Amino acid sequence: MATIAFLGLGNMGGPMAKNLLAAGHALTVFDLVEAACAAIAAEGASIAASAAEAAEGATVIISMLPAGKHVAGTFLGEDGLLAKVSTDTLILDASTIDAATARQVGEAAAELGIDFMDTPVSGGVAAAAAGTLAFMCGGSGAAFDRAKPILEGMGSAEKIFHAGPAGAGQVAKAANNMLLAVHMIGTSEALAMGEAHGLDPAVLSEIMKASSGNNWSLQVYNPWPDVLEGVPSSNNYQPGFMVDLMVKDLGLACEVAESCGLNNQMGKQAMAAYSDHQGEGNGPRDFSSILEWVKAQ
Ligand code: NAD
Repeated sequence: MATIAFLGLGNMGGPMAKNLLAAGHALTVFDLVEAACAAIAAEGASIAASAAEAAEGATVIISMLPAGKHVAGTFLGEDGLLAKVSTDTLILDASTIDAATARQVGEAAAELGIDFMDTPVSGGVAAAAAGTLAFMCGGSGAAFDRAKPILEGMGSAEKIFHAGPAGAGQVAKAANNMLLAVHMIGTSEALAMGEAHGLDPAVLSEIMKASSGNNWSLQVYNPWPDVLEGVPSSNNYQPGFMVDLMVKDLGLACEVAESCGLNNQMGKQAMAAYSDHQGEGNGPRDFSSILEWVKAQ
């Protein structure tokens, strides 16, 4: 069992830290919000007054922070953790951030002989609580071998992937979420078109699931209310996965595409659609509510 410093105890980090405690690891935690730390301390973690204090004596550091600037601020520079921790420390950043920052932290760590991996997740708050997250990992093979048993405390063993070198995890995450946005909009358009012509969306969903239009949005996250039970569309689009986070992830995906000269037309159109929907006050709603935007065009 490892001695882990866990940084960032929000909607995702909180339940992930709880699962690591349940798996038998020793945790010292730090978050800017005291109440978030107190909730995990009640489960058996120690609270640190800073990220540096949490990292003292830890063999593994896991961060789950909002954006690239928080990750860079935590690890880089004179006051950053890379300058403070010993070379046998394994650093896993599970935040969803820009691939450029992940590569920058990975390269700075490699120069010091420290193992760093970007390990963004797929699955959302429910999978974080259930310990069934998917992890997409960027870093060396040796770092991946060290990381896997730790990540298994928060995710499903068969969904932990080594995507490639530092930054590759973030590229994989951006690619997946861009595709998710595109097929959610496409699924919404197909259902809205069928319904406008008098088809029952539930019947049309069954037809497309058995045909070549089948996809994840249709199968397990149908955007039409009351076609599936227990999904956000059948619960007034309570998230789930917020429109705000989809806009964030599409922004990162567009950066990844631009940095390699790819004209990701569908990704850009998805970004425009979700930004428009967000601007109409739908940021906190589930991303499958894009069906309402489609119907309103
Ligand atoms: P959140 O805003 O709920 O939590 C972030 C936490 O980080 C907050 O508690 C905040 O106080 C803390 N924090 C900020 N700066 C800090 C610092 N310098 N040191 C320590 N703590 C700091 O966000 P979340 O929903 O938990 O998401 C975390 C990351 O996971 C994001 O990058 C997000 O894009 C990604 N993600 C979220 C979901 C989701 O469904 N919520 C799904 C997949 C990935």
